[in-house]
Amino acid sequence: MTHLKKERTLVVIKPDGIQRTLVGEIIQRYERIGLKLIAIKMLVPSEDHVDKHYNLDPEWKKNVGEKSIKGYIDKGLEPPSQDPMVIGDQVISVLKKYLSSGPVIAMVWQGAHAVKIVRKITGGTEPLSSDVGTIRGDYVLDSYQMSDKDGRAIRNLIHASGSAKEADDEIKHWFVEEELLDYNLVQDKILYDVNLDGLLE
Ligand code: GDP
Ligand code: MG
Repeated sequence: MTHLKKERTLVVIKPDGIQRTLVGEIIQRYERIGLKLIAIKMLVPSEDHVDKHYNLDPEWKKNVGEKSIKGYIDKGLEPPSQDPMVIGDQVISVLKKYLSSGPVIAMVWQGAHAVKIVRKITGGTEPLSSDVGTIRGDYVLDSYQMSDKDGRAIRNLIHASGSAKEADDEIKHWFVEEELLDYNLVQDKILYDVNLDGLLE
């Protein structure tokens, strides 16, 4: 089994993150916890690329549809459809428009528990209810209520893989193997070295 310190996750700074000039701030959050940036590029993704991204896991569409229907019912509202696949298709359709509207920055971050750590720092999907101190909680104010009313995707600055399996598939979708760089950081020693010998002169 690969060592835990080699876990990788995909982060995409969405078009609103670029437009809000938050690139430096966002990268700094992942850097300062000790994760290692092993790939990065700027691009305008096509709608087809975004469509494939959200269809990598066949379950994702159904899950997001079910989550959205539950959200409507919890608020005492009538969902636009009772079929999770129909709602899932609607979410993918607005996501295609959102993510292909301008440049994004795709990155791969590596380190112990990279997937969970990145999700923790990024915060929950809805900025209105994301924790204070997270990127989505601190830098943007969108809500399900507002985005659903306007028929658009919730604007939350970042995509971050939800699981190790999702990360593997997504990294392959956004990067070719040669773009992922293996290198040592000086700080790797203090984070992961077992014996810590050689610190003293
Ligand atoms: P994430 O992993 O936190 O990004 O959330 P999901 O994987 O569940 O959803 C992907 C993206 O779709 C989110 O980041 C939002 O931009 C958008 N989204 C998800 N669910 C909804 C919804 O119920 N309504 C709207 N308007 N957008 C949604
Ligand atoms: Mg997700």
